[in-house]
Parts: sequence; structure tokens; C-alpha cells
Amino acid sequence: MKNIVIFGAPGSGKGTQSDKMIEKYGLNHISTGDVLRSEIKNGTELGKTAKGYIDNGQLIPDDLMVSILASVYDSFGREHKGVIFDGFPRTIPQAEALKKMLDERGDKVAAMIELDVPEEELMKRLILRGQQSGRADDNEETIKKRLVVYRNQTLPLIEWYKNEGIHHHINGLGELDRIFGDICAVIDGI
Ligand code: AMP
Repeated sequence: MKNIVIFGAPGSGKGTQSDKMIEKYGLNHISTGDVLRSEIKNGTELGKTAKGYIDNGQLIPDDLMVSILASVYDSFGREHKGVIFDGFPRTIPQAEALKKMLDERGDKVAAMIELDVPEEELMKRLILRGQQSGRADDNEETIKKRLVVYRNQTLPLIEWYKNEGIHHHINGLGELDRIFGDICAVIDGI
């Protein structure tokens, strides 16, 4: 079982590369951002709670995220080839909770793949995405807040996963296929 954390700032290409990984390796995919956006669209209680945080560029509280994550993970059953965690974990408590959740099931994260993209480029990509998709949090003001949150709360996870011995750095700037090739080299080496 190849459980993989695809890691990087907003706009680093996690979603795009996840699609390619799903296609090539038949992995399942959990995008916590997608889960939350679908809850908002369906007008659920969780969606109502999440919307305030998302529109403000802030993170949803850890305990809420962790319980959502466990239930999506369990929905894949026991026979899956592995799960791509996209947009989770975003804090050290989330990484610890993920480790514990998988441990309790006899599973683990096999690799954390960091897509490294400079902030200037992230800003450009997210503004363009906002114009094309109309995603409410892809506006300049909210993007700036999300990048601050990334720097302060999420970036420390790189050291955390280095300590776990499973961190892989990939240059996320350049041709999509070169980046995907680098990702495949990591996955094939697990
Ligand atoms: P994303 O689509 O991954 O960029 O997520 C969009 C927004 O959803 C984030 O800016 C957060 O407000 C929220 N979100 C997604 N994943 C998480 C997470 N793991 N922890 C807390 N908030 C999250």
C-alpha cells in the first residue's frame, strides 16, 4: 500500500499532479479542500462552519479536519492500493493525528512529496486560477493570507517529515511532465 502525502503551498500543483498519479497508479485521493467545498455547496453544517475559515484564508480547526479525514480514509475499505493525501496535513498536530490514525489501522505514509514553487509564481498561478474558475478564495487578498498561513503553520512540516525520513523535495517549477516524472521516480522507489 502506497500512501503518499503530496505537499506544497496553494497553487504548487498538488491537484494537477494528483490527477496524474491517480491515473497512472490507481491510487485513491483525499483532497480536504475539495471535501470542504463540496460540503459548502451542499449547505451542510460542516460546510457552514468551514466557509468562514476558507473565505478568510484561515485553516479549519484540526480536530474537525482529523475526523473528516478518518471517515474518508475508511470509506476506501481495506484493499486499496494507497491514498494520496492532498492538502492534508497542514499543521504538525494534523501530521501527528494522521500518523496515529494510520498506525491504528496498521498503515503508514510511505512518502511525503514536496512540490517547491517560489511565492511570486504561486501568486500568479492562483490569481489566474481565480479568474478562470471563480474560486472564491483565489483573490489577491485571500491568497496573501493563505500564503502567510502556509509559511507559519504548514512549512514546519518539512522538518517534521525529514525527521520521519520520508521527505522528498521536487522542483515544482517547469514542465508538468518533468515534474510528474520526478514524482514517479519517488513512487516507483517506495
Ligand atoms: P485547498 O483546496 O487545499 O487549497 O484548501 C482550501 C481551504 O480549505 C484552505 O485555505 C483551508 O481554509 C481549508 N482546508 C483545506 N484543507 C485543510 C486542512 N488540512 N486543514 C485546515 N484547513 C483546510
